Amino acid sequence: MPELPEVEHAARVAHDAVQGRVLRAIRGLHPSVLRDGALDAAAALVGRTVQGVRRVAKWQEFTFDDGAVLVVHFRMTGDWAVTATPAPPRHARIHLHFDGDRHLWLVDPRVLGRVQYRAPGALGDVRVGPDAHDSALTPATLRARLAARRIPIKQALLDQRLVAGLGNIYAAEALWHARIHPATPAARLSLARVERLLAGIRWTLDAALTDPGRQAYGESLDRLAVYDREAAPCLRCTAPIRRIVQGQRSTYYCPRCQRA
Ligand SMILES: [Zn+2]
Repeated sequence: MPELPEVEHAARVAHDAVQGRVLRAIRGLHPSVLRDGALDAAAALVGRTVQGVRRVAKWQEFTFDDGAVLVVHFRMTGDWAVTATPAPPRHARIHLHFDGDRHLWLVDPRVLGRVQYRAPGALGDVRVGPDAHDSALTPATLRARLAARRIPIKQALLDQRLVAGLGNIYAAEALWHARIHPATPAARLSLARVERLLAGIRWTLDAALTDPGRQAYGESLDRLAVYDREAAPCLRCTAPIRRIVQGQRSTYYCPRCQRA
């Protein structure tokens, strides 16, 4: 699944490709994209100019000059392709045609990505917590948000209402950096550990965002410290990394550095 850094990268790609351009056409190329009617509503955007594209948690928002917004979520396998000709790339599901021979394609092998049209002035229905870099998110405020949660910290981190945009991979990475066992009850973390956790979250996301190589699906994840490294030596202490399953998702951690 694309995680926050990948979505941030994708939003920048889309922004650079279409900012200031007029949308000429939008069309679905797969039956399941056409079924929910979102593209019919989005036809109102044709003839409008894109002011910019930004990431909000794992959504991407295309804001048009009349205030309308096209919201895109990649879900599991979505990505953008930009071309100068109208020939669709493999697995293209939605075609956005802009002036100046600019074509933006939602490429999505599993066809799970979603678009949504938001009329001018309408409020988004995206309810998410603060971004990891929000200055209002401090060790104290994060600890207060965790205080009511008895669930393991790893699972709490995946709740987008807690911290927006952290997914399965970076939650595991952040916990390794913070030296916190993924099964630790969220409410039991001391302020000192929450401080390390927040630093770990920010370090992990920053490292991913500044990595010039994009993490494509199925490609090597070797810039990651623990994720998908079961039995490989911990980069900090050389103990073999362990894998456990929490909430049906794999979690990786170092049994020596990350004590419960
Ligand atoms: Zn270790």
